[in-house]
Amino acid sequence: MTAKHKSFSRGYAFKNFEGQPQDNFLQINIPEKVIIPLKQGFGDEVPPIVKPGDKVAAGQIIARDDESVSSPVHSSVNGKVIQVEQVNYSGREINAVTIESDGTDDFQKLDGFSSEWENLSAEQIGRLIYLSGAGSLGKSGIPTGFNSSIISPRDVENVIIQGVGSEVHNLSLEVLLRDGHLWHFIVGLKILKKLLTNAAFHIALDKSAKNLITEVTDFLADTDSFGIYSLKPKYPLDYDEVLIPILLDREFPHGFSSANIGVIVLDIQAVLHVYEAVAQGKPLIERTIALCGGGFRERPHLGVRIGSPIEHVVKDRARQDKELRFIRNSSLTGEALSDLSSPVDRTFNTIIALPEDTEREFLAFARPGFKRDSYSRTVLSALFKDGSDTFQKTCSTNLHGEERPCIFCTFCENVCPVAIIPHHLFHYVERDVIDETLLSLKIFNCIECNLCSYVCPSKISVGQYIKQGKQKLLEEGFECPSGGFELKAVEKLKSLK
Ligand code: SF4
Ligand code: SF4
Repeated sequence: MTAKHKSFSRGYAFKNFEGQPQDNFLQINIPEKVIIPLKQGFGDEVPPIVKPGDKVAAGQIIARDDESVSSPVHSSVNGKVIQVEQVNYSGREINAVTIESDGTDDFQKLDGFSSEWENLSAEQIGRLIYLSGAGSLGKSGIPTGFNSSIISPRDVENVIIQGVGSEVHNLSLEVLLRDGHLWHFIVGLKILKKLLTNAAFHIALDKSAKNLITEVTDFLADTDSFGIYSLKPKYPLDYDEVLIPILLDREFPHGFSSANIGVIVLDIQAVLHVYEAVAQGKPLIERTIALCGGGFRERPHLGVRIGSPIEHVVKDRARQDKELRFIRNSSLTGEALSDLSSPVDRTFNTIIALPEDTEREFLAFARPGFKRDSYSRTVLSALFKDGSDTFQKTCSTNLHGEERPCIFCTFCENVCPVAIIPHHLFHYVERDVIDETLLSLKIFNCIECNLCSYVCPSKISVGQYIKQGKQKLLEEGFECPSGGFELKAVEKLKSLK
């Protein structure tokens, strides 16, 4: 078996930005208290089954609902429940359980796990993944036969493993897979194959990770169920809507989920969680999170208990001499973390700290520099094709200029990963033309990646205008067209809150 190369002509490659995470891993202390949101990852919020005063063990299920599309949620520490109440989390009012930790780090293992996982049935594997909480990972969950996804394991036709970091800052696969974890990843894949028996597996890896590609290829040489692909990292390859057409050569039903066409997309950390659940009995109580961005003095990869307050994770490592903006997972689309007392959850991969920089620069757009990034290659940093350690590009919150009129440069059109015409849509939405014209321009195909805003030399928030246009259309009663696809479990998807 050899890796096949796949290319993507659209999108944009972010190269040589400062603030990449360092090449080390540290386990951080267990915090004095954790706040566990009862909706994490894919699926509905689940009701609590503990109350204030209850003693709980790390790994114990504290919330579940086997009837709804959801996965159980666990305590990540040994300690005592001190509060169960509604909190505002990621812009939603949801219940959360606050637990005072006793500081011990052991955890309760899942019943029925086995290092000899080959002896487990597909149903036993599904049950372990469901009970571990790993079933909530990925944008469609992992189908287990226990309501963790909208489709059943036998309906999965393709599984894609996303191993191409395409963001400005990315968690390092090299760090994630060292110290024997590469083998855990390989076993995790084989466990998933036993569960999702009808599925073909496709593993997408960064083409520059040559050693990793060789090792994965060698480890999987004894089976023909796995295809391995190498891709150049280009944003936004981490969107299912982009990766599925490239790897499977089929269209994505925009406005729906990959599970509606029988495809499950998971990242490498999700496969490691599957391994830990089934072969080691470890529930999903911990994530590896990389600190990124010029706002951190040091940027290790950290082993973090779920529910740890963000301030517990970033303290002592963030710069004190600058005002910072903390962002979860993506500089282009991630949520700004305004309340650092709020917790990390199962979906965190990176915490990015960018210096707040609003200083106005006269004629900013006409001031090229070695440390600036530009789609049009008009800045001096373009001289260093693959980057330079001396002139690493900077990344702050400064827009470096005010919004100006569209100059029809078509940069936004060139990069748009779903081949729609952002500047046309922007002009209609800006003039408040909210009608079928937007549908004919395929506005609902927009995946809200914000790349159009990033490349726009006129500083127009093109992506935000398009998002507003979609919301206004829905308010006026227009629907996202299903495009004639034969879709699975659409009603279940719609019923998810
Ligand atoms: S139009 Fe949508 S999909 Fe295209 S670049 Fe802009 S935000 Fe991304
Ligand atoms: S990138 Fe900006 S200026 Fe250029 S066409 Fe798009 S909206 Fe207009």
